[in-house]
Amino acid sequence: MKKVVKFGGSSLASAEQFKKVGDIILNDTTRRYAIPSAPGKRSNTDTKVTDMLYACYEAAENDKNFSELLKEIKDRYDEIIAGLDLSMTLDAEFEVIQDNFKKKAGTDYAASRGEFLNGKILAEYLGFTFLDAAQVIRFDEDGKFDGEKTEELLRRALNEIEYAVVPGFYGATEDGRIVTFSRGGSDVTGSLVAKAVRADLYENWTDVSGFLIADPRIVKKPESIETITYRELRELSYMGASVLHEDAIFPVREVGIPINIRNTNDPEAKGTLIVESTCRQPKYTITGIAGTDGFASITIEKAMMNSEIGFCRKVLEVFENNGISIEHMPSGIDTMTIFVEKKEFEEKEQKVMTEIHKAVDPDHIELESDLALIAIVGRGMRATRGTAGRIFSALAHSNINVKMIDQGSSELNIIVGVRHDDFKSAIKALYEIFVLTQL
Ligand code: ASP
Repeated sequence: MKKVVKFGGSSLASAEQFKKVGDIILNDTTRRYAIPSAPGKRSNTDTKVTDMLYACYEAAENDKNFSELLKEIKDRYDEIIAGLDLSMTLDAEFEVIQDNFKKKAGTDYAASRGEFLNGKILAEYLGFTFLDAAQVIRFDEDGKFDGEKTEELLRRALNEIEYAVVPGFYGATEDGRIVTFSRGGSDVTGSLVAKAVRADLYENWTDVSGFLIADPRIVKKPESIETITYRELRELSYMGASVLHEDAIFPVREVGIPINIRNTNDPEAKGTLIVESTCRQPKYTITGIAGTDGFASITIEKAMMNSEIGFCRKVLEVFENNGISIEHMPSGIDTMTIFVEKKEFEEKEQKVMTEIHKAVDPDHIELESDLALIAIVGRGMRATRGTAGRIFSALAHSNINVKMIDQGSSELNIIVGVRHDDFKSAIKALYEIFVLTQL
């Protein structure tokens, strides 16, 4: 049994949090490879070290004095080292960082130091070997991630090391230029390490007990999801539920390693298990509900549209040529509606309308903004009759008008479009009918 464990920023934000992490790792000898984030927020008003590094480097790049900002960052680490009673110092590392900031080593280099330094402390605290991600996570000259090379380098290095700390979030090109993943990218590093060593489990430790059935900012104390499939997760993440970096799913999914989301502050809780497929039926018909706000719809009406060959293609081409991606496209006999992100569409709105007129000569085009989309996701829906009925009666009872319905042929999800003002009450109504009343 071999586990790879990733700890998020809030799990490593202070000495106190480090101690919890130490207990978790050292209590289970199969937890062999640890991936740390940079120290995160200690309280709601705190700043993440990664953000401090970005700000500090910006000052350096603009030839401003950055020593005070760098000192504040060093203080964060020194406080952790002191709180853990370690005899190490990071003085030498900070001198190198200061030099490299002066030489303008790049934003990615700057941001990556958060994980690098936290990795040094964690390795010392655990008695594990420190393996610099710059040596094993490979990017090409254009800064594109190189999966094959990374797998080879990671496997070769970790074959030789029984217990290691590999800092998250960054890697390097062959000639040593540091490149980072996008924000939250330590999740990706953990997934890559898990894949390379063919771990039995990838544990992702954070500050919540797994994925919640609904957004806790909308539903009071929602229950957490015990088991979810990669596909369900993808649907929910796409709709705005976020606990894990989107790209973290792919490496482990390829080789069938489950991910377990766990809570550093409540290590007894089982968290959420993310798997390829499962016989375990979800507790409720649905696995989760997620939604996003800020969509616009464009409804194009033309008599006899259905018999006009190439109509859809011509309309879609207009969006393509304007670089606007399409979210959903429900259609009727003489109408088609296109849902797009309002942010993306707004500026080009009039241009798109003119081009649609030119391309297909419609009878009428109607725009509607301030729409929200809600996905009701669950593998259990496939085997259950009446799910759609329940969704619509719950919404109707709450006086919510449904503007759009889309059910994927996989029967894994049903997406409904509602007005922005109805967004929160719709999610509450759905949670109530599927979870609270347990229908
Ligand atoms: N520290 C980085 C961030 O704040 C990466 C991570 O935590 O995964 O985005």
